[in-house]
Amino acid sequence: MARNTLIAALSAVPDPMLFVSADGVVASVNAAAEALFGAWIDGRSYATAFRQPALLDALESVLRGAGASETRYSRDDQTGETLFRVLITPMAAQDTGTPGALLHFTDITHLREAEEMRRDFVANVSHELRSPLTAVLGFIETLRGPAREDSEARDRFLGIMEEQALRMNRLVGDLLSLSRVESEERVRPAGEVNLRDVISGVLTTLRPQAEEQGSQMTLEADEGDYLIRGDRDQLTQVFTNLTENALKYGGPGRAVTVRLETGEGRGSMRGPVVRAMVVDRGEGIDPLHLPRLTERFYRVDSHRSREMGGTGLGLAIVKHIVNRHRGRLRIRSEKGKGSTFTVVLPK
Ligand code: ADP
Repeated sequence: MARNTLIAALSAVPDPMLFVSADGVVASVNAAAEALFGAWIDGRSYATAFRQPALLDALESVLRGAGASETRYSRDDQTGETLFRVLITPMAAQDTGTPGALLHFTDITHLREAEEMRRDFVANVSHELRSPLTAVLGFIETLRGPAREDSEARDRFLGIMEEQALRMNRLVGDLLSLSRVESEERVRPAGEVNLRDVISGVLTTLRPQAEEQGSQMTLEADEGDYLIRGDRDQLTQVFTNLTENALKYGGPGRAVTVRLETGEGRGSMRGPVVRAMVVDRGEGIDPLHLPRLTERFYRVDSHRSREMGGTGLGLAIVKHIVNRHRGRLRIRSEKGKGSTFTVVLPK
């Protein structure tokens, strides 16, 4: 391929690409590669241009006649590290007749981030399962040994084992919900749901729990039409998770209010919307934590959350369901006064 044709072809590719001639000179650079390395590399030796041993070794072996090769190249700047996969293909420049190498850089930072997230997630799940499992195994051992003939201890230990097994059961249940919700997130629900009915159903189900801790629960709703496009079961899960949290973190004897209103969307949500606010009068959340609250397994106080049977996945599930409904979740909280979780859903 003539040099001009090569340059024209490279410039049509959005990824950084460049050609290194057989004598080791960077001979053709497309615009994306110029943006990545700077225009100065055109005409320089490749050793000056790249400077990373893995890339230099791979390139040298291609220039020495080995077949195509693949390597990684990373760049650090103010926005963090960008990782590229580099494909190096031997290629003859026909105007000179000497073979060179064509380098194609693909940004794979997002793949590495996804891989890191997956690894963190597996580590978190294993960690969450490990302590209840260890407890159950420990008690089995004790029941077989020292507590064998002690019926009082046996009952107590069986009670703890049941609690731990229920905890694992909740975790597995939440993990399954999360994976189901994530896989459906792109498909907007088609059903028609009355949000007011959904929320009164949730409050009826949670009433015994509220009464047990002496907390009042109230639904306040303006006159209005609360029909929205949605998935009834998933919306039930959203308001169950939020109201349960309001009861748990609001604390015993503290009232929980769910307020429903219709209105117009703001900002990126134009058009008619329904707003549902779950309000508690607990101790509130430090603003520092708010942006991370919907991450999986993120808890302000892990010990407290676990003690109250929390899995750390409730708000992550809420966020995915709200996204699927093309809605928004907003969290406002004031230390010492309580928190308000607002779900805005388009009609
Ligand atoms: P968990 O199972 O731990 O309750 P969630 O995902 O539902 O998990 O919530 C994540 C964390 O957010 C909780 O551990 C808690 O620290 C905080 N949180 C959630 N809701 C409230 C609330 N109403 N008031 C104060 N903190 C809350």
